[in-house]
Amino acid sequence: MSISGRHFLQIPGPTNVPDRILRAMDRPVVDHRGPEFAELTKEILPLLKEVFGTHEGTVVIYPSSGTGAWEAALVNVLSPGERILAFNYGHFSELFARTARNLGYDVEEVPLRWGQELPAEEVEAHLRADDGENPYAAVLVVHNETSTGVTSDVGAIRDAIDAAGHDALLIVDTVSSLASIEVKHDEWRADVTLTGSQKGLMLPPGLALLCVSPRALERGTEGGAPRNFFDWRPIIRDNEAGFFPYTPATLLLFGLREALKMLVEEEGLSNVYARHRSLAEGVRAAVEAWGLRNLCEKPEFYSNTLTAVVVPEGADSDEVIRVARERFGLALGVGLSRIKGRVFRIGHLGALNELEVLGTLGGVEMALIESGVPVELGSGVRAAQQLFTRKPTEVAGDQDRAAV
Ligand SMILES: *Cc1c(COP(=O)(O)O)cnc(C)c1O
Repeated sequence: MSISGRHFLQIPGPTNVPDRILRAMDRPVVDHRGPEFAELTKEILPLLKEVFGTHEGTVVIYPSSGTGAWEAALVNVLSPGERILAFNYGHFSELFARTARNLGYDVEEVPLRWGQELPAEEVEAHLRADDGENPYAAVLVVHNETSTGVTSDVGAIRDAIDAAGHDALLIVDTVSSLASIEVKHDEWRADVTLTGSQKGLMLPPGLALLCVSPRALERGTEGGAPRNFFDWRPIIRDNEAGFFPYTPATLLLFGLREALKMLVEEEGLSNVYARHRSLAEGVRAAVEAWGLRNLCEKPEFYSNTLTAVVVPEGADSDEVIRVARERFGLALGVGLSRIKGRVFRIGHLGALNELEVLGTLGGVEMALIESGVPVELGSGVRAAQQLFTRKPTEVAGDQDRAAV
């Protein structure tokens, strides 16, 4: 049966694409060797640098997904056989480490609990224990673990790398944080920060985006792995004039320009981050009112882009998700791999406002009740409403532009 009205796509990516962005892409395909396209590239790249929080970095865009961004980040700076330090604290950190192993790197994967953050002390301890014989060439970090709803403190991890006196490259996955939770590529002294188009950037899937430090660029010049499509050298060279060495995803790039206008120039990044914080607080208040548990163990690491909700013993989160979809046209995120059936995830990132969050919470409440999880009808919605009605107002949109 089809459900009338707007479909509620509240998974933590892909996110809803605003009509404005759809319209910006709804146009005839342009000549990617022509002047109009070159202007587009030159408009996009500086705006993206603001979103990555960089002056020094170079932004590279590929037609790909976040998974491609992982591969691009690795093959440009690391030679096969080099050692990588990785941590398993969720589905995406696990897959990132697997990607590195599949590409022939020597990966040490430290198991952590799914629901905990990546503790800076763990990073420091492993780097201190490095005997230097075949030293770690890179540390992989997932800023926002989309499977567990945990945001790690990358600044603290950078400090830990420094405290250990180690010069491993810092590679940061910001696929589900960039443009929603502040990313500070320069301040973190990240070497590669990577993302995809379909989460905070409010675009359809199809782009992988990297921000590369001068040190990583240098590594890429001398070394790296055998590579072709993901080699960033020809891309960076051609981008100077606004072009690409192959056919880029032209229409997605028109959408990206519109998204950057909305986020950077109109709403302002500090307002975007504040909005995500506020909406997330509303969702968390609802989860608490339902008497359910947030999978993220510590409140200081709660994610502002999604919440993973643990269902009570005996309940099946897949059933909640099914009811939400079939009865209410609400798409929620499933529990991935080892937490399948135990959690459902509410995405609260991208183009989203308070009323949409309230609609989502209302749908989740009904789906919980219909699938046998006893919650009080209206309790979560009311808790979020209470927060939203006494929310502090906006900060000045231009503040963080000046600060970057
Ligand atoms: C979505 C996601 C990915 C994977 O991106 P794809 O576009 O699905 O390849 C990687 N890392 C994180 C943290 C993600 O949320």
